[in-house]
Amino acid sequence: MNSIAIVGAGLGGLACARVLQLHGLDVTVFEQEPSADARPQGGTLDMHGDTGQVALRTAKLLDEFRALARPEGQQMRALDPRTAEVVIDETPEGDFRPEIDRGQLRGILLDSLAPGTVRWGRAVADVAGARLTFADGASHDFDLVVGADGAWSRVRRALTGVRPGYSGVTFVEFGLDDADRRHPELAARTGQGTMMTKVGGKALVAQRTSSGHIRCYATFYAPEDWAAGLDFADAAAVRAHLLERYAGWHPDVLAYVRDHDGGFTHRPLYVLPVPHAWTTTPGLTLLGDAAHLMPPLGVGANLAMLDGTELATALATAPSVEEAVRAYEAGMLPRSIETAKACASGLHDLLSDDLGSMAA
Ligand SMILES: Cc1cc2nc3c(=O)[nH]c(=O)nc-3n(C[C@H](O)[C@H](O)[C@H](O)COP(=O)(O)OP(=O)(O)OC[C@H]3O[C@@H](n4cnc5c(N)ncnc54)[C@H](O)[C@@H]3O)c2cc1C
Repeated sequence: MNSIAIVGAGLGGLACARVLQLHGLDVTVFEQEPSADARPQGGTLDMHGDTGQVALRTAKLLDEFRALARPEGQQMRALDPRTAEVVIDETPEGDFRPEIDRGQLRGILLDSLAPGTVRWGRAVADVAGARLTFADGASHDFDLVVGADGAWSRVRRALTGVRPGYSGVTFVEFGLDDADRRHPELAARTGQGTMMTKVGGKALVAQRTSSGHIRCYATFYAPEDWAAGLDFADAAAVRAHLLERYAGWHPDVLAYVRDHDGGFTHRPLYVLPVPHAWTTTPGLTLLGDAAHLMPPLGVGANLAMLDGTELATALATAPSVEEAVRAYEAGMLPRSIETAKACASGLHDLLSDDLGSMAA
């Protein structure tokens, strides 16, 4: 095999590149962002024993993960939104789903790659067969192009042309900095992991990260254009909107919104149709969100990494690229269809009034 191009240096693409290099295969990752730290990498992820941790074991990075992971971050609390009382408080034993900051996990993967593997600032503009054309007009041919380029994948356009649709649910993200010192009551209310409270098709989720930051998500059913009149650069206006939307909730719960630091980020949730599948095509395949964008209920990063490491192992062991891709897709597609179906109903559980269904 000569050359493999991975489009996208997210968790899935990097996991794939790492395992390809463990097997001595030639791989280049093309990433549109100018550098590894071009933007904050977001909150915390839980790595599941049957997916993300399997990928980390295949990538021989489980020890590096364990050195940074937070088993205590598995704590799950549910609060009654009308009284702020803790209704459920559970912490699973052992390393069931330890949490790690997304930035730390990406750092582990990046550090594991040979220098120069990731070409930063190389946005792919067009894909035709296994030929990539970059934003600067240059083109290159490869034996295989792997689309690890996330929700709005360019590579997917060459394979299925399917675009994600709005799920009917939106997230508004915000945060509390240095929470133990600056917001001790909210820090105590959140615990060491995830706090959730919900009623009437609205939820509020707060999650600790390693740095003492608490990342919060106001989650609710809304039409796609619900924020048309709202300027997200105007934090006071967004805060006022959310406080009105969550009116009637206990003041101690609304304090997450009232006392936040910084701004708000609008994250409408888009999903690919289920099933999203394709006929094996020479020279092209997809992994992660590019293949199966689903609601963020704690599985997307895990599946992206598992996809990446399984594809790499298949490429290292199958007699040809085509057979490797066929074998990989034969496992990945049914798994992702099954998980996407579960996530679609999980999204509605997340917004149900049942505090016992704490999908996150
Ligand atoms: C708010 C939120 C919370 C989440 N929480 C969790 C969680 O707790 N657990 C979990 O497992 N999952 C979670 N997810 C889902 C998870 O983030 C994604 O499923 C995962 O990041 C997908 O990884 P990926 O490698 O497929 O794509 P991405 O991480 O999206 O990476 C794609 C990369 O491709 C690059 N790219 C895109 N287009 C191009 C182009 N044309 N040329 C070159 N590069 C390009 C992008 O810049 C990016 O770096 C969450 C998602 C959200 C939105």
